[in-house]
Amino acid sequence: MTIPETPIKEWEELEPRYQGLTSRPLSDQTAYQFLLDWSELLKEIEETSTFLNLRSDLNTADESARAQLSHFNQVTNPKVTIADASLRKRFLSLLSPELKTDALLIRRRMQTDEEAYCEANVALEADHSDLVNEFSRLTGNNLAEYKGEKLTIPQIQEKLRDPDRSVREGVWRAWQQAKLNIAPALDELFLKMLGLRKRMAANLGVGSYRDLIWLKYHRYDYRPKDCLDLHASIAEEVVPLATELLERHRQKLGISSLKPWDFYWRAPVDPEGREPLHPFDTVDQLEATTESIFSAIDPQLGKEFGEFRKGFMDLGSRANKMPHAYCASFPKRRMPFVLQNVVGSEDDVKVTLHEFGHAFHGYASMRAQPLVWNHFSATEFVEVPSQAMEVLALPYLHKDRGGFYDRDQLSRVYGTQLAGIVHLLTWIGFMDSIQHWIYSSAPADLTIEQIDHRAAELIARFMPQTDWTGFETELSKAWHYHHIFSAPFYYIEYGLSWLGALQIWESSLKDPVGALTKYRAALTLGNSVSVPDLFAAAGAEFAFDRLTLRRLMQFLRDQLEKI
Ligand SMILES: [Zn+2]
Repeated sequence: MTIPETPIKEWEELEPRYQGLTSRPLSDQTAYQFLLDWSELLKEIEETSTFLNLRSDLNTADESARAQLSHFNQVTNPKVTIADASLRKRFLSLLSPELKTDALLIRRRMQTDEEAYCEANVALEADHSDLVNEFSRLTGNNLAEYKGEKLTIPQIQEKLRDPDRSVREGVWRAWQQAKLNIAPALDELFLKMLGLRKRMAANLGVGSYRDLIWLKYHRYDYRPKDCLDLHASIAEEVVPLATELLERHRQKLGISSLKPWDFYWRAPVDPEGREPLHPFDTVDQLEATTESIFSAIDPQLGKEFGEFRKGFMDLGSRANKMPHAYCASFPKRRMPFVLQNVVGSEDDVKVTLHEFGHAFHGYASMRAQPLVWNHFSATEFVEVPSQAMEVLALPYLHKDRGGFYDRDQLSRVYGTQLAGIVHLLTWIGFMDSIQHWIYSSAPADLTIEQIDHRAAELIARFMPQTDWTGFETELSKAWHYHHIFSAPFYYIEYGLSWLGALQIWESSLKDPVGALTKYRAALTLGNSVSVPDLFAAAGAEFAFDRLTLRRLMQFLRDQLEKI
């Protein structure tokens, strides 16, 4: 395990630098330099944060690493947040600052942050964080008991890929039992969160918590009404394709009706009963093959991946390592860092392509954008580079082109990948519409029974293919899902990004070089232009109207038929 050596910044060292920024003269003419200097300070702080988080995640048994991270989170970071808020006020007090174009949107976003800020909500935000932590504790410690063994939820979900139907049923029941065990606690927790969220909206003087979210997430380019239209378009344009795919799945399984254990979109069973794919044995093999794939897609990307291999990734799985995958960044060095836990599966290859899509985005934007606020991008675009890479790389996964799979295996990979996008979109329909309902049209004294009832109705609208007879209670708790508790309304982004990624893929089939050139050009823009402009630079349109969905579902259908 190696992480780039990084000096750890303490508040004692940061404070005088913040004071320097607070006390120095500031005018419209020096506004841009002020941002540059503030940005440099933030980069150093982010390097500390990345380093401490990585050290703790790469070895969760390292007590001193955990203590240092906790000190940073509890002591240093709150002071940084307060100091940043006062610098923001100072910067916004300038009426007509002379800024380069890359800072114009930064100023707008800071103005929105001021609008979304209200002192009365600071304490409520802290209470809210405690509730989110409580959610993590309840779900993180929740284990499913299966055949005398205690399994984490991701472990039990993986077992839903078992070709033996009776095994899957037992696994699914064990998973659901674990969910139901904590359901009363989650219900109670959610009502508390809901109360807090409504109070925050009232304190801020906006109509609903949804309005607060629109400010908080800087959603400038679409309105709630557009999301409601999207839900209708998903129901009309995506659900029929999902139904076709699942009908084929049911027939191949040779069963009369699809029960909940016959298909889980995150861990789908192979309907032909084949063993799971095992594309690689060692991390070295994964890295070397991935490097040749990226080089084949674009020599520049291959070269960058080679740079990342020199100390900016840790991909293997081992004890005491955080189980999830992510891409972090060292903005001072202008380098990303990717953490994964690979074991040799098909999913590992997909996640590798995805995370390094983020890494290419970080690398390009950190190099092209001097201001730290412009690294990576707005959330509506941030998954485009990673999701597009999942599909752009597909043809290069063939052994003949230096990849992992033979022809039959690659067909399977295509099938899983494309169906996964369709099912994710239907799940987004559910996730987004239930939250719009909760925060805008549900009764003011909303009860758990009403949410449960609504959840069942919405699953019937967006994922009607499964027969839940006899499992109505389990069905009604479909809304017990991470984002609804921890990141309200944050989910539609995954779908908006996929619509962009699919358009990039579509154009790459006609003009691979041109599509790649645009893809890379969009990455360098970081967060310096609007979301529609980012999509346009990438060769796509930021659109999620019904006709766009219809066209892209037809594109997916065509691709599925080619397999
Ligand atoms: Zn991602």
